[in-house]
Amino acid sequence: MSNRSDYQLNTIKNEKTRSCGNCDACCTVLSISCLDKPAGVRCSHLIQNSEDQAGAGACSIYDDRPEPCAGFVCVWLRDNIGLLSEEDRPDLSGILFTASVTNF
Ligand code: SF4
Ligand code: SF4
Repeated sequence: MSNRSDYQLNTIKNEKTRSCGNCDACCTVLSISCLDKPAGVRCSHLIQNSEDQAGAGACSIYDDRPEPCAGFVCVWLRDNIGLLSEEDRPDLSGILFTASVTNF
């Protein structure tokens, strides 16, 4: 990865620039220890909005969801530099990008 790309990645802030829409990928992909939820297992709190709308789940404990859930913002959701396209949304692409924010 070039220095320019490194710089661009460092400019991505931990703030939402899009909305999740029908995506609920992180509620399956991520491990959430306080919920005893292993990675790759659909969260038991995830309810399906519609039987024929795969991936359009909603959190049944949204107002009381734990901090790791409330604080998680994937790279697609916070992409403020045009790194990823609309088609790269995790539920559409099958790829979930995460990054930690480092303050220098
Ligand atoms: S994976 Fe990203 S876009 Fe999808 S629900 Fe989670 S935070 Fe939102
Ligand atoms: S508690 Fe809610 S937000 Fe957290 S993983 Fe489960 S369904 Fe998703």
